[in-house]
Amino acid sequence: MSKSQGELARPGRAMLRFLGAAGTVTGSRFLIDTPDSRVLVDCGLFQGRKELRELNWAQFPVDPASIDAIALTHAHIDHCGFLPVLVRDGFKGAVFATQGTAQLCKIVLPDSGHLHEEEARYANRRGYSKHAPALPLYTEADAKQALEHLSHVKYEEPVQLAPGVRAIFRRAGHILGSATIALEIERPKPTTVVFTGDLGRPFHPILSPPAPMPDADFILTESTYGDRLHEDADSIELFANTIRNTAAGGGTVVIPSFAVDRTEVILWHLRRMMESGQVPRIPVFVDSPMALSALAVYRAALAEGGDDIREELHGASEPFDPGMLVEARRVEQSKKINAEGGPAVIVSASGMATGGRVLHHLRRLLPDPKNAVLLVGFQADGTRGRRLLNGEPTLKLFGTFVSVRAQVVNVPGFSVHADQKEIVDWLRTARRAPTTAFVVHGEPESASALRARLDEDFGWTAVVPKYLEQVRLN
Ligand SMILES: [Zn+2]
Repeated sequence: MSKSQGELARPGRAMLRFLGAAGTVTGSRFLIDTPDSRVLVDCGLFQGRKELRELNWAQFPVDPASIDAIALTHAHIDHCGFLPVLVRDGFKGAVFATQGTAQLCKIVLPDSGHLHEEEARYANRRGYSKHAPALPLYTEADAKQALEHLSHVKYEEPVQLAPGVRAIFRRAGHILGSATIALEIERPKPTTVVFTGDLGRPFHPILSPPAPMPDADFILTESTYGDRLHEDADSIELFANTIRNTAAGGGTVVIPSFAVDRTEVILWHLRRMMESGQVPRIPVFVDSPMALSALAVYRAALAEGGDDIREELHGASEPFDPGMLVEARRVEQSKKINAEGGPAVIVSASGMATGGRVLHHLRRLLPDPKNAVLLVGFQADGTRGRRLLNGEPTLKLFGTFVSVRAQVVNVPGFSVHADQKEIVDWLRTARRAPTTAFVVHGEPESASALRARLDEDFGWTAVVPKYLEQVRLN
């Protein structure tokens, strides 16, 4: 695609194009074209099924150099992980994000680049890639380059993203720094488009609840759990019981965890459970350098009294250490965990077991029925996490099959995504109906369930958009 595309005549109207997270959870990317500029909200990686992951390799639908600015809702990789590709391929503008998001991007993006390089190296060594040689989607160096473009914004303070487009970031309560973004388009007539990003839950133990929904002409709402309700109390009990029973049998509980936020929420619960005697005091290993770096960012935010931290935790010194926390940063420390045996809890990334150190633990622990795997987050279709959730008897790890004899327990109540009721309750805070609600970030069943609720209960025009669909905003 030629660079001159950025200089082509701008449309007379404002347009929105769904470049991802349409009919699926991942690959959050929404393009706004106005008479004055071109802005991208979120710049995420597609994850999960192979057909989806292949979209990361497809040519980006517009020339990256033609985009004036990018705004990020939060630092999860399916919302920011494609940034290094766009910067490498010519994006020159600023990337607007809250301080928390910027800090976490500094951890997750280089790590993602590093993982892509590792994967390519591993595939080349084993010869199991059909591409020869296998190439990384992007490198750690590309990721570091992308970080240079980050520009901090504050919650609730309007910021000019590009000519004719302002934005207000508001607390989303999903992970540290997460925001809903209200985009205010000036021409041809004032139009507000609200992006929920990922919406948090009112009861996040560390983060303040999401700020109410602002007035919107259009809303793009997430629907990850658009067809489900979280059973919190049951989940917490199931979580505690699994650890107690596994520990009693001398086994190890492995928790594949998203490095950012989920680890903090798990540690917070473990500490409370160990303090109350609900679970015995056993060693808790956090085996993920990225999770530990993120933990440091959370600890600093608590100490500083960050804008989205619950007030009662401002200045809190250490709500995360259950007393026997072992932080495994280096590879030798990670390997030592194997020698220690049970009873123990291992919290390790990645959350859907698509990569990272958790794979080594699964290979070692899955064949023995005295161990357990706790699934605490969303498991996208096509991932190893989903295979475990589905009860598949074997799992492919490092090119070979491993028997799944360990107990696999799903505790969705640990999710940091709002469930259907919580999304609907949040949308209900709108003071007026939007012209259209676009239901995004959901697999088809979840998205259509939420769409139906908005249609039937609110009387809104609600749509599940298609990949690459384009709509007029004014
Ligand atoms: Zn997220």
